[in-house]
Amino acid sequence: MEEKKKVVALLSGGLDSRLAVKMMQNQGFEVEAVAIKTPFCDFDCGRGCGFEIRETADTLGVKLKTVYLGDDYIEMLKHPKHGFGSGMNPCIDCRSMMFEAGKKHMEEIGAEFIISGEVLGQRPMSQHAPALKTIEKESGLEGKIVRPLSAALLPPTEPELKGLIKREDLGKIRGRSRKDQLKMAQEFGIENPPNAGGGCLLTDPAFAIRVKDLFKYIETPTTNDIDLLKIGRHFRFDKDAKLVVGRNKDENEIIKALALDSDILLEAKDHVGPISLIRGKNAQDHIEFGAAITLRYGDAPKDTPSVLTIQKNDAKSEVSAIPALESAYLQYRI
Ligand code: SF4
Repeated sequence: MEEKKKVVALLSGGLDSRLAVKMMQNQGFEVEAVAIKTPFCDFDCGRGCGFEIRETADTLGVKLKTVYLGDDYIEMLKHPKHGFGSGMNPCIDCRSMMFEAGKKHMEEIGAEFIISGEVLGQRPMSQHAPALKTIEKESGLEGKIVRPLSAALLPPTEPELKGLIKREDLGKIRGRSRKDQLKMAQEFGIENPPNAGGGCLLTDPAFAIRVKDLFKYIETPTTNDIDLLKIGRHFRFDKDAKLVVGRNKDENEIIKALALDSDILLEAKDHVGPISLIRGKNAQDHIEFGAAITLRYGDAPKDTPSVLTIQKNDAKSEVSAIPALESAYLQYRI
């Protein structure tokens, strides 16, 4: 029997990349998937964090390789060559990095080309025709990226010119409506198709403000700094120090887990309330104010002092404070 030709798919948990895989499988290709994680996004575009990527790959019957773009991604985010979208989302540079990772896998397994679930005109920054072209160029994959859902609307790719795929088998989907995709999902027997993703965390305006603040004051943030951005209420005291106040029990636990030896943790001793973290080289100077803000978000009485524990590394001490007035700290909120 003739061996099937291989194709690499950039797989997210979303519907579009699943459909792209199905289309290629139906055309006789063996598809292997690459799923990309970044510090801001679990998989591909689409708020993929909740999607079960392994399960998706299993259901599709494809091998899965997960690639984590960590420090390189953070480095890129400092000065993305193609700029940002409406938030802090460097979609073109981000997609180029994702395709580059896919290209590596393509070369490793001797695949013919690479596919993705991108749909022409679906996303403002990275899915209009010139952007798709730029992404191909930047990732060194000119002519080798097939977007099966929209490929019949795009210039022919290398595999099409070589006769590996035919235009009549490719999709003509354009824009943000999901009508065609949902119809295809039904035809392919995809049950419970996931909702459309809205882009990763970097597209979220409130989160983008936090990211901008972080990059303004820290030249190269760590993934720990970034994980901290995803939770709590944030306050910038000065160029060196910030405070993060947990919003619930889970966040309190995460704050404790993310605390570094140099961070200061604050918690009311006798009242239910948040755990807070002060990070920065002069963290020590902000304990009293941080303590007052921490009490404000808990059950401590408004007008009398309460005691908080201060923990730095393994050393514990105490401080007493009165809950801060909103007018005193709102200006520091990020
Ligand atoms: S929304 Fe943009 S920046 Fe975020 S993962 Fe998708 S392509 Fe990358």
